[in-house]
Amino acid sequence: MDNKLKKEIGSIEKLNKNKKFECLHPDCKAMSIGSHSQQHNGQLKIISKNDEVYAMNFNMYEVLTKGSSAFSLVKTPIKNASTYPGFCQSHDGQIFAPIEKHSLHLNNTLQVATLFLRAITYEITRKKLAHFKTNKILEKCAKLLPAETVENYKLQNLGREKFINNDLPFYLKKAYSACNTPNSGVLKSKWIVINKVIKASNCTVFCPIRDSVERYYHQAIACPQVMSTFNLVPTANETHVVVSWLTEHDKDNHWIDDAMENQLEKFINYIAICESEDICLGPDLWESVDVFTREKVHFAMHHELYRGSLNEIPIIIKI
Ligand SMILES: [Zn+2]
Repeated sequence: MDNKLKKEIGSIEKLNKNKKFECLHPDCKAMSIGSHSQQHNGQLKIISKNDEVYAMNFNMYEVLTKGSSAFSLVKTPIKNASTYPGFCQSHDGQIFAPIEKHSLHLNNTLQVATLFLRAITYEITRKKLAHFKTNKILEKCAKLLPAETVENYKLQNLGREKFINNDLPFYLKKAYSACNTPNSGVLKSKWIVINKVIKASNCTVFCPIRDSVERYYHQAIACPQVMSTFNLVPTANETHVVVSWLTEHDKDNHWIDDAMENQLEKFINYIAICESEDICLGPDLWESVDVFTREKVHFAMHHELYRGSLNEIPIIIKI
């Protein structure tokens, strides 16, 4: 890779890192701070060692210069893990209070709605950041990249624009409506408490449609795409697994109840590893995994469109 391109990507990464958006609270025009999709002093602190966890490396510059795989878990200070420019200072505190200032209570509908909103706003912001970064690359580096890559980036951003313009307002509206009226039936959820502290934490959206053809159709064409949310939240003495979805998507989520009741460990590993790039693992857990299994985990984290369907789900999170 030539030096000019490296330099451009490096400065784009810096812009991306410091990028702020308008607060995602309706009618708020203040600029965002670094919100956490996984509570810094809660779930991340609990799984950490010396205030560090293993999280996905998203920095393209480091990947290009240091040659590490684009999908690898790297030791990350908990203050930098799972951050996203989602809300302004005051709304960040206000919106997440039900899950950060109060302990989790099985099936509490306001907490279900807040966890849903957190996963949705994290996904929205990640898409907005990827769109911003890709636009900058197209602006600054188009001449330095192969034509095919440029075309690919353009197509990826068209998909993100569709998401930002259509799916984003749809899901935000639903999530706020669930938070404002938690018992109105906007959401359904499945919540299980495990009686031990699991050294893994996650907050993600996933597509519950299991038929891959139908899934691609939904991701590519149907609007808005079907998204459910998954939160894996270890606390001081137990671990909460909370999955929620829009009631209008109930049909696509029917299998979740059975999967969580009868194959919880497999389900957790499937969503947290194969369906998500947002897993944070405690050093105690990740460092005890052998190198072959680590490779399988890295591979499984690739998007389904690249890796194809999986023959095996690596089970590293033991319940
Ligand atoms: Zn705000």
